[in-house]
Amino acid sequence: MAARIISGTEVAAQIREELKKEVAELKEKHGIVPGLITILVGKNPASISYVTAKQKTAHELGFYSVQDDQPDDLSEADLLKIVDKYNKDPKVHGILVQLPLPKHIDDKKILNAIDPDKDVDGFHPVNVGRLMIGGKEAKFLPCTPAGIQELIVRSGFETSGAEVVVVGRSNIVGKPIAMIMVQKAPGANSTVTIVHTRTKNLEAHCKRADILIVAAGVAGLVKPEWIKPGSCVIDVGVNRVGEKLSEKTGKMVPILRGDVDFDKAKEIAGAITPVPGGVGPMTITMLMKNTVKSAKMRAGI
Ligand code: NAP
Repeated sequence: MAARIISGTEVAAQIREELKKEVAELKEKHGIVPGLITILVGKNPASISYVTAKQKTAHELGFYSVQDDQPDDLSEADLLKIVDKYNKDPKVHGILVQLPLPKHIDDKKILNAIDPDKDVDGFHPVNVGRLMIGGKEAKFLPCTPAGIQELIVRSGFETSGAEVVVVGRSNIVGKPIAMIMVQKAPGANSTVTIVHTRTKNLEAHCKRADILIVAAGVAGLVKPEWIKPGSCVIDVGVNRVGEKLSEKTGKMVPILRGDVDFDKAKEIAGAITPVPGGVGPMTITMLMKNTVKSAKMRAGI
């Protein structure tokens, strides 16, 4: 039987509707408006489109949202001053500095200067540590891994006691999603294995996964025969494999593929995310969720 397709587009839309209601209620009952600042240094076209999408979503949800555009030659010291200004601004609950930054700026120094209680991206070492400790300590989960967990939970897969295999050990996806799924908490309680380029038998590990999360960035890395029948497959990979003419715009657009051979894998898995339209749409939505959480935390709600 063909797998159920887990649509990140649909789940993200559902969460955004929930957030919209929550934001309206926060405003009405408590006079609180979640505030999100996005800081963009320079004019990298991809970065412009990412921050624009974030601001558009924040605006639609009823946030106080500001995009702070800065020139390419902004000094590191001046960027630190800007971050400090927003750290102190009570209207701001989330600060996002869009990466990559120009080469003359040390991005670690900047990210570490963000108040951990406004670090809605969840990459500050304090928040990485909080995630490791888990429970009530965990404040902001990094957005892509948090989105992956939502997709698994909302698709009805049992995570407790499940064998979860994560392909990839990056700090933005592999390691945090492994840490999330191993927590003693609802939607987690899994037995987790992380595999990477030095793993001896990748195929054998993938084959025993009840939930297989693939974040390697290698098109078609996971073969259909590596998938356990009936399992849940979350394909995080986004790989450009060519270009095609868009019927909508008449322009050339990239052809994107995941790390899993989707067409064949969907005949074996129980549920699977497509690329695009799977994990991708969840990331911005979880950023919004973290910002609402930050506003509530500040107000003690
Ligand atoms: P990354 O930093 O390049 O990490 C890739 C990981 O995969 C590394 O740990 C690497 O192992 C492992 N790996 C690579 N090739 C492998 C192989 N042949 N066998 C086993 N393991 C292998 O990538 P990332 O930032 O985590 O991103 C992974 C993918 O997810 C990319 O395609 C990226 O575009 C996508 N992504 C999507 C979203 C989204 O949809 N919102 C967000 C983030 C990332 P080593 O550590 O041993 O090198």
